[in-house]
Amino acid sequence: MADGPAILQSPDEVLSTLGKDGKRKWLYPVESKGRFLTRRRWTGFLLVLAYLALPIVHIGGKPAMLLDVVHREFALFGAVFYPTDTLLLMLMLIAIMVAVILVTALLGRVWCGWACPQTVYLEFVFRPIERLIEGKEHVRKRRDEGPMSVDKAWRKAAKWSIYLVISLLLANTFVAYFVGWEALLTWMQAPPTEHWGFFLVMAITTGLILFDFGIFREQMCTITCPYARMQSIMLDEDSAIVSYDPGRGEPRARRSKKQLQEEEEGRAEQKGDCIDCFACVRTCPTGIDIRDGLQMECVACTQCIDACDHIMDNIGKPRGLIRYTSERELEGKKTRLFRPRTVIYAIALVFVLSAFSIVLTQRADYDINIGRAVGEPYTELGDGRIANRLRFRVRNQTPVPASFTVRVADGSSLDLRPVEALPLTLDGGEMRRVEIWVMAPSTAFAGDTMPVNFLLEFSDGQVLERSFTLLGPSERP
Ligand code: SF4
Ligand code: SF4
Repeated sequence: MADGPAILQSPDEVLSTLGKDGKRKWLYPVESKGRFLTRRRWTGFLLVLAYLALPIVHIGGKPAMLLDVVHREFALFGAVFYPTDTLLLMLMLIAIMVAVILVTALLGRVWCGWACPQTVYLEFVFRPIERLIEGKEHVRKRRDEGPMSVDKAWRKAAKWSIYLVISLLLANTFVAYFVGWEALLTWMQAPPTEHWGFFLVMAITTGLILFDFGIFREQMCTITCPYARMQSIMLDEDSAIVSYDPGRGEPRARRSKKQLQEEEEGRAEQKGDCIDCFACVRTCPTGIDIRDGLQMECVACTQCIDACDHIMDNIGKPRGLIRYTSERELEGKKTRLFRPRTVIYAIALVFVLSAFSIVLTQRADYDINIGRAVGEPYTELGDGRIANRLRFRVRNQTPVPASFTVRVADGSSLDLRPVEALPLTLDGGEMRRVEIWVMAPSTAFAGDTMPVNFLLEFSDGQVLERSFTLLGPSERP
């Protein structure tokens, strides 16, 4: 690579949020207006809207997204998955994983900069509130460094109060993903003692959100997030990155418009396009200097692009000194979209998605499981018959209600006595258990077992056959 970006020189600069005394360096990133900020803001608002709406909007009678761990039911845009759908869930997770790897290989950390909730909520919800109440960055910094005053106290109190309300809303929404809004509203209207577990989860989640967006902030990306640490294996020289162009910017030098004019006219030594104004550093939410090269702390938020474009406009130079590019492009070569790893990832993704679609379309409408009811494996009746008490667990995997009844496929000699009257109606997605006594003459047993084929007849006309082995005594009179 030609003049590659400089490597960090001093250990003092290893962590951008750490001061020389080892204490946290509080960042005051300046907002840089521009085309990327506008696009990211709209994307962010849409994502926030989606996050709030997904547990509320219902598709096919279920929330658009529901992760009901307690009842082991997962709803996603009308498709409902149950524990029996392990293969489907596994394929979905693999597809998400491969998609993340593919998108990262192609577009770099586009997720971090544009769609990660950490970025979206911090940059488009919490920071704007802070700016509104506490003022611009330099004003906030001055006030924070000053002594406590009435002005400082009321602003802090107002900001944290609003943060608390928003955190509560987000925590409620988060919990709604797991229990649904209906249950959540019912719990909220009841005394906390009736659902103390819920209130505990809610309080912890609210506290974590408050801490994260109010205090921890960029450290979530620079210290905690594992995705950032995996970048080095997912990115290659063709991946899209936000980068400073050292070939164009160096040698950097701070100079006035007049000096630039003189350079232009050949009356002064020509330098690089970077005027060392630090606008890109002041706007960086993770506090790094992008001119030091590709760094793990860079969340590809594009704020430095907007900041630098604005400077370039002011000094009459072309935009793009900091831009979306690739390491390969910075070396003067063409970025390759198709390369072995992206082709393999894409093929793998198509393969997994195809397998997912096939398994999904072939999934049975009803999940049936037959087992023994709790208690004795069989009962000898006084009239020479053997009774087995069986438990039929039936789940309606369609979105519409259906009823079913049970009979024996081939044995008129068997007598079925359901504990609960049949037919039994199931709502869409509902699972119910019904216990049935099955009485068979002891002479029908071969040894101590007897295979039986049950037919479950559903109201939509489907008849599903399931086998089960009845038990009886090994010796009979
Ligand atoms: S904003 Fe642009 S011109 Fe200013 S220091 Fe950064 S790279 Fe150089
Ligand atoms: S270097 Fe630029 S793109 Fe990276 S985090 Fe800082 S401002 Fe965002």
